[in-house]
Amino acid sequence: MAAAVKDLKITIVGAGMGGLSSALALAKEGFKSIDVYEYAADLGFVGAGIQLAPNMARVLDRLGVWEPIAREATNIKDTSIRQGSTDEELAHVDLGYVKEQYDYPHMVGHRFSLANYLYEGCKKESAIKFHFNTPIKSIESFGPKPVVFAAPRDGSEPLRVEPDILLACDGIKSNIRVEMLKLLNVDAKVIDTNQAAYRIMIHRDQIKDDPELLALLDGDTVTRWIGPKRHIIAYPVDNKNIYNLSTTQPDTHFAAALDATYTTKGSKETMLGVFGDFCPKVQRMLNYVPEGEVCEWKLRVHAPLPTWVHKSVALVGDACHPTLPHLAQGAAQAIEDAAAIAASLIRLPDTTPESINKGLRVYEAIRKDRAYALVETAAASGRTLHLGEGAAQEERNKQFAALKAGTGKVPDKWADADVQKILYSFDPTKETEIHFDEIFNSLAPEDIPVNGKVNGANGHL
Ligand SMILES: Cc1cc2nc3c(=O)[nH]c(=O)nc-3n(C[C@H](O)[C@H](O)[C@H](O)COP(=O)(O)OP(=O)(O)OC[C@H]3O[C@@H](n4cnc5c(N)ncnc54)[C@H](O)[C@@H]3O)c2cc1C
Repeated sequence: MAAAVKDLKITIVGAGMGGLSSALALAKEGFKSIDVYEYAADLGFVGAGIQLAPNMARVLDRLGVWEPIAREATNIKDTSIRQGSTDEELAHVDLGYVKEQYDYPHMVGHRFSLANYLYEGCKKESAIKFHFNTPIKSIESFGPKPVVFAAPRDGSEPLRVEPDILLACDGIKSNIRVEMLKLLNVDAKVIDTNQAAYRIMIHRDQIKDDPELLALLDGDTVTRWIGPKRHIIAYPVDNKNIYNLSTTQPDTHFAAALDATYTTKGSKETMLGVFGDFCPKVQRMLNYVPEGEVCEWKLRVHAPLPTWVHKSVALVGDACHPTLPHLAQGAAQAIEDAAAIAASLIRLPDTTPESINKGLRVYEAIRKDRAYALVETAAASGRTLHLGEGAAQEERNKQFAALKAGTGKVPDKWADADVQKILYSFDPTKETEIHFDEIFNSLAPEDIPVNGKVNGANGHL
């Protein structure tokens, strides 16, 4: 029986963090036929840093790729939250305890390093086949056997792909999500967060004559400068050769194009203007960015979905739970998805479409409430960090002051020990191992929607 489960054919759409980690997790469980279709010609190179939280590291370690990623990453000892306009320190939080408590330290690294070592891990697995330059153009059926069409960008004949299971790891703009929701009569719109982000990398040689900035680059600190409606978070990556900055500010450039555009070349002058009232140190830092290298990202989320699964298709990562970056958990959550999917599918009692559907719904049950709670916490943290002048800001600053005196919660929830406990202690593989049978056995066959109702027992959408 188990051998037949491992023979199930699995197609993955998208080779982002969710797709790569799903492929690797499934191969490590022994699945033998995993095809990954990716629109881009290769992994792409996003010049940006990424936080490698312990809950992500735990999964990556089990997949055998954490060690090389950690070797190139920075081990973060503490975080400093500062007033953007004055550089005054509002709070200083020691993160040294993280490794002791959660087995992995809090690290930050280069996004390419994470993607690349996941890819290298996949390449060692003969079960995984990559099809770059080959977008999935349409979906004809969600099951019992999903049917999709891949259209190679070199103009060769479109391919009909008919796996047993399809995982849509196709990111925030997921077309499969759109088609699934259409079929289920679910109206889950893109929510405009009114926020955008610049992602900036400053290289060591650019600041070699600036001791103050060199000290930041050589440090082990995540620094956040906050101001009304804006903040900057910064940390060293790439063996401390690069100081990585990620900002958040009101969106003024994308608002008119709600669904279409997610990134654009920004103007350096505009960026300097956005942070014009921040302190001279921040101003100087932003000034090092070469003209033409300012990239702005629109930050969007979706309304929570009533389901991530239909028949033999499941949504994964940003396709079903895109988040604001204020908890630095988007990729970590996609990687948790991957671990839960692999742990669920390997426990299928048989290969019937009914069992496949239930197995995918176990994944959803393990992951959904947690992922959406984190999406909400990230949004709430952003609201607190971006407070303008007024009573709420005074209250927040009192909390920062209490923290400085040694007590209380951290208003920047990313650095709060209680929030970290929720984030970092979760082990999706173990959770699935423990709860699979109970959840699987409790599931009725999937209700096909009638008049917009999914799983009609409670009819909630
Ligand atoms: C400013 C910012 C900072 C962030 N910082 C952090 C952080 O510090 N830590 C963290 O954990 N997360 C962070 N994130 C979030 C993280 O980047 C995302 O949540 C994560 O990359 C999502 O991975 P994914 O695989 O779901 O989607 P994606 O990475 O978007 O991958 C989707 C892939 O699917 C491909 N694709 C799409 N459609 C098709 C198709 N039809 N056919 C074939 N291929 C297709 C795309 O080309 C792409 O490669 C941040 C995000 C932002 C915007």
